[in-house]
This record gives sequence, structure tokens and C-alpha cells, in this order.
Amino acid sequence: MAKRDYYEVLGVAKNATDEELKKAYRKLAMKYHPDRNPDSKEAEEKFKEVKEAYETLSEPQKRDAYDRFGHAGVDPNAGFGGGPGGFGAGAGGFADVFGDIFGDIFGAARQGGGGGRAGMYRGADLRYAMEITLEQAARGYTTEIRVPSWESCDTCNGTGAKPGTKPKTCGTCNGQGAVRVQQGFFSIQQTCPTCHGTGKVIPDPCTACDGVGRVKKTKTLEVKIPAGIDDGMRIRSAGNGEPGLNGGPPGDLYVEIRVREHSVFQRDGDDLHCEVPIGITTAALGGTIDVPTLDGKAEIELPEGTQSGKQLRLRGKGIKGLRASYPGDLYVHIAIETPVRLTEHQKKLLRELEASLKDPKHSPQTKGWMDRVKEFFQ
Ligand SMILES: [Zn+2]
Ligand SMILES: [Zn+2]
Repeated sequence: MAKRDYYEVLGVAKNATDEELKKAYRKLAMKYHPDRNPDSKEAEEKFKEVKEAYETLSEPQKRDAYDRFGHAGVDPNAGFGGGPGGFGAGAGGFADVFGDIFGDIFGAARQGGGGGRAGMYRGADLRYAMEITLEQAARGYTTEIRVPSWESCDTCNGTGAKPGTKPKTCGTCNGQGAVRVQQGFFSIQQTCPTCHGTGKVIPDPCTACDGVGRVKKTKTLEVKIPAGIDDGMRIRSAGNGEPGLNGGPPGDLYVEIRVREHSVFQRDGDDLHCEVPIGITTAALGGTIDVPTLDGKAEIELPEGTQSGKQLRLRGKGIKGLRASYPGDLYVHIAIETPVRLTEHQKKLLRELEASLKDPKHSPQTKGWMDRVKEFFQ
């Protein structure tokens, strides 16, 4: 389904002031609030839509991104290619997930790619796939990961030249790092193809580092996964990617989050769903049942005559998403279990019960269904 324009959702003009946004949001949020519209799926959807629109437009950074790139500018699932960027991330620290998203967009928009001045190249980005549990995603999670790092080669002290030898001035460019080539009437300056802009060549490369001047090691990084993160999101750690070439900046490290399938709960946005089986007696007579939540056990009261597929909502027992101001809900789906492996005595009791349930008032669903399908059965 196509997402509606956020300004349209709030019913304001594109140049609306913060005050106008807030006013429009308050009005609509009151109108569609779940407390005022119990059991209305439509109102709930509208409420979420309004909230999302306001949360985006009320933050200058996000509004700017939305104005420029539409939903893709603020949608964590839009999946931008690997645009390098240096936006929003603290030096060396982990940016939050928004930093990542905005960094990607702004970086990609700003940078043409390719090498810059004097053969300087930005280092490549690294990706690290991390699998976490649903509980860790809900509560936040701090862990350590080991990632590759590069250190100056001890053998050649970082020069790349075999001990006892020295790098030489590049003969192609005379140490300039650039050469001029004639193209028609024009003379164009290009990075020297022999030394790649460094101005030096290594006739006798160091064998420990193959003349690169640095060696690959590993280092330990602390990763803080923010509470509410969802499957497929990534966290950027600025500057922890591969080192740049010829003095270029390092790339970034992206930690990609995979949330493992849970044995009890399924996540849908900020909401959780779980199926709870109950026996036919409880379904018919009602009663208190135990249901699981992420914080432990909760009790719910089932009414008499509970039907299969009945949904019960535990408000606030879902997950508080990254951009949410309060948590989603837990939906309990009731599944009525038909008893199996009955003894002859139990079968007899059930047949007696069945005989006593002949009156259609005991099974209105079956009655209604029979009425609808009658003509097919002739
Ligand atoms: Zn070396
Ligand atoms: Zn050269």
C-alpha cells in the first residue's frame, strides 16, 4: 500500500509552521486516539499514521530529509545502497539509527564517488551481521564484537619497503603524484598510474605486509543496540571501516541487525502477537487464563462462549519502537483446542452433551453459516 503524504495526513500546507503542525496533530490525535475508539481498527491505523507523520515533520532534520527525498528519506526499510557519509555520527562512536539513515542519504547525495584529490580514497565500508533475540531487540543490548583493524606494519615501520631499502621517487610523475595527458587541445591532469598519487614507488616491497605498510589485525568494539530496534535495521559506527588510501578518511562499519524468530511472539511493527490455546471447556464456560508477555506472565479474563480466533489486546505490552513515544500492544489470539485420544467414556459424555446442544441457539455461528450455504447443498 502506498504511504500517504505526511502533510496530507496532517492536513497542513507544505510550509506549515511548527505551531500549525502541533495544532493539527493534537486535533487528529484526539480524534483517533485508541481510548476514544475502542475496537476500531481504522481509527487505530489513522492514529498511527498521524503519529508517524507528526514525529517526522516535527523534527527539523527529519522534515528536511522528508521534503527532499519523500518517504524514502525517513523510512528505515527503504534500503539505500552503500552511500558513504559523515553525518550525525560522533567521532568513532556509534551513531543512533537515525544517524545511519540520514548519513546514508546525505552522504550519497553529497558525494560523487571515486577518488578525490591527489589519489586520496575513502576506505571501504564494512558490514557486520549480528543476530539478536526479540528480548534483546525490545530492551536494548550491549555487546562486544571483534572487527578487523589495520595497524602499521612492524617490519617496515609502515613504509611498505623491505627493511634496509627505501621507497623511491616515482619516475613516471617525478614525485608529483599526477601526470598531464594531452586530449585534443586540452592538457588534463590525472593521478599518476604508476604510484597512484603517492609520488613514491617501492622497488623492494616488505614481505610482511606486501608493501602496503600495514597489516590486518582485529580489535574489540563495544556495540550498543538501542531498545526497540527491528529486524533489518543497521547501526553505523563511523570510522571503523577499512582505512583510507593515501591519507583518505576511513570507511564506516555497519552493524546489520537480524532478529531471531521467537518461539512465542511474532512482531509486527511495535505490536506483538501470540497464539494461546485453550480447551473447549474454558472456551465455553470462560475463566482466567495465563498469557505470556515479554515482562512475564499476565492473567486475562475470558468471557463465556469465547470463540476460536478471538483476539484480546493487552495495551502497552508490545515493543517501544525507536521512534515511538510509547510501546505497542500485545495481541493474544485464542486457539480452541479440540480434545484428542478420548476414552470410550469421554466419547459417550460428549455425545450426550451434543444431544443436549441440538437447539441452534447454542451455536449461532453454525446456524448463520448453514443459512448462507443452504443453496449450495441442494
Ligand atoms: Zn611491512
Ligand atoms: Zn607517480
